[in-house]
Formats: sequence, structure tokens, C-alpha cells
Amino acid sequence: MNKLKLALYWAASCGGCDVAVLDINEKILDVAEIADIVLWPIAMDFKYSDVEAIEDGGIDVCLFNGAIRNSEQEEIARLLRRKSKVMVAFGSCAHIGGIPALANFANSEEIFDRAYITAPTNDNPGGIIPRTTTEVPEGELRLPEFYNRVMTLADVVPVEYFVPGCPPVRDQIVALVDALATGDLPPIGTVLASDKALCDECTLTRNEKKLTSITRPHLTEIDPDLCLLEQGILCMGPVTRGGCGSRCINVNMPCRGCFGPAPGVEDQGARMVSAIASIYQAEDEEAIAEMVSQVLDPAGTFYRFSLSSAVLPPKGAAAKEQP
Ligand code: SF4
Ligand code: SF4
Repeated sequence: MNKLKLALYWAASCGGCDVAVLDINEKILDVAEIADIVLWPIAMDFKYSDVEAIEDGGIDVCLFNGAIRNSEQEEIARLLRRKSKVMVAFGSCAHIGGIPALANFANSEEIFDRAYITAPTNDNPGGIIPRTTTEVPEGELRLPEFYNRVMTLADVVPVEYFVPGCPPVRDQIVALVDALATGDLPPIGTVLASDKALCDECTLTRNEKKLTSITRPHLTEIDPDLCLLEQGILCMGPVTRGGCGSRCINVNMPCRGCFGPAPGVEDQGARMVSAIASIYQAEDEEAIAEMVSQVLDPAGTFYRFSLSSAVLPPKGAAAKEQP
């Protein structure tokens, strides 16, 4: 059997998705059995020139994790797209922006100002910030351009499949490996997870109880058998795609939405606000204001993973506009 050519790449990400691939334990032997790895920056010393030397379409599958934050990441995404038959947005950041996309609440100028000028730990009297080109006696040094906003992989290249999660779970990766090995691939555009919302898979008991106040997990004594949302803990389960095995709920932590919008949900954060409004019991405006004040970090709560794919435009750029 001809082995598949497999590329793994990381852009704006933490490395957790790469670790998740290793975390499939003995199944990694199946990967070695069916695939030759041609690029994996976190683990192997391939160069970009090695990828450029591969014929177009010569890579069977590319698992691309991380969002697109700068010009190098976009350039490599386009290169890998050209070289790969199948492009997989692997993990929350490539899928919907992930944690790096929270930076879309500021533009690049504000980020540089904070990171290099005003942060209390800085010692930068000259106010120097990174530039794309710098002249030195030896010649010109170049850095990638830092974009005004963080994009998903599908914002810059066509993508065949999406594997959600921060990071993806073992069962999804094993299912993907099996599909690649047998050639029994799902329709283009499939999100390789459940077709239901997380709430539909959650085993905690719901009593259709109205919400009268909002609290945080460390400020209350959690009943481990009851729905967290009905206990006043903001859980994104109603608007999040299932398939993770309820891994946060199982340890008494609310869902933060890393599997992205549930099927039929366009904007995960906006839909969650609407879901809360539909179950919140308030007598008057004062009670509503009190409830709103109890959500200490609305942006980080409702858009923790999905800001790149939200309908809300990021600061300094219209939604879906190029950087
Ligand atoms: S809101 Fe959260 S805790 Fe409640 S049923 Fe849905 S997933 Fe489970
Ligand atoms: S419970 Fe929510 S945040 Fe936790 S892994 Fe599942 S989808 Fe992600």
C-alpha cells in the first residue's frame, strides 16, 4: 500500500493540538502505518523549502492547527493548500479563531502599544516596536507582518474538514485516522464532531428552572447532578456543538464553547445571550441590570473561542474583511 503523505502545521496556537495528536496513544502506530510525515514543525526538522519542493497536490492530508495572525502564517497556509489534496482545520483556533482571536477586541496598533510601550514590565525608552524591515550593516532583516485581526484558516484558504476542540479529543482524531486509512471520508465541509448541541448529550438533570442570579464555579457549592446553567453558572452547552464527551461538565466545570457553534447557530456568543435572556426571571429593569453586572467578563465568556467567526466585526476591521 502506498503510504499517505501527511503534513502537520501550527500557526497562531499554543501547541496543544500537536500534543493532542501524540495523545492518541497506541493509535499513533496506525498513523505511522498509513502515513509518511512530510512536515511537522513541533516534532521534526523539515524546512519550508522541503514543502515547496513537493509537487502541487503531492501531500494527501494537511492537519493545520492555529489561527492566522501574521503574513508568514497566511503564506504557509496558501503553500500547504496548494500542496495538499485535503486541508483540515484542526482545533478551535484554525476552526473558529480560538483564544488568539480574543485579540480582535483590539487592533494591531493597540496591541503593539500595550505589549511594547505601556505594559508596566517594559523598559523601552525609545518606544521601539517591531517593524517588517530593519536595516543592519549586514543588509535588510525582515519580519512577518502582524495583521490587524486574527482569522480562521477558512478565511484565507478553502478547507475540506473541520476538527473542533481546544484541543480536539482522542475519539475525533482516531475517527479521522480511520477515515483516512479507509478512504471513507465524509462530505466536504463536515465538522467532525456531533450534529447535536452539547446540552443534548449532557447527562446532568434539567428541571426547566428559571435563572434568578449568575455566579461562578468557585463561588458556589455545585450540585454535581444538576444542570450547571440552572445553578446560575454560565455554561455554553445550549449553543455549542457536542462531541467532546462533556469533558468539562464531567469535572463540574461549565462548557466554554471550544467545539464552536452548534449546528444552526451562526454567532455563538449572541445566541448564548439570547438563550440566557429566555430563561432569566427578572421583575424589573433593576433586576436585569443586576444580572448583567454579574457577568464579569462578557466577551471572554460568550466569545472565548469564536470571535474570528463571529458576526460582530473586530475592532478596526469589518467582519470578514482581509487584514
Ligand atoms: S447547560 Fe451545560 S450543564 Fe446544563 S445541560 Fe447544557 S451542557 Fe449540561
Ligand atoms: S465542555 Fe465545552 S469547553 Fe469543554 S471540551 Fe466540551 S465543548 Fe470544549
